[in-house]
Amino acid sequence: MQRHSAALVIRPTTDIRMPVAPQLLEILVCPKCKGPLEYREAEDALICQHDKLRYPVRDGIPIMLIDEATPA
Ligand SMILES: [Zn+2]
Repeated sequence: MQRHSAALVIRPTTDIRMPVAPQLLEILVCPKCKGPLEYREAEDALICQHDKLRYPVRDGIPIMLIDEATPA
């Protein structure tokens, strides 16, 4: 008797929300002021309260570039 393999639903990577690894969050600082960042999982963003900048997170990878940051 052969087991029927369950169909895998493969979603495009853009559909998958990946949280940033906690180990990564611990070492991340704002590239501008070297200050702490606030992770907003619902927004997929890291916020620097000091600079009022919002760093985007793409596929669980924080984009720590001042050029990529938008006003928070
Ligand atoms: Zn900053």
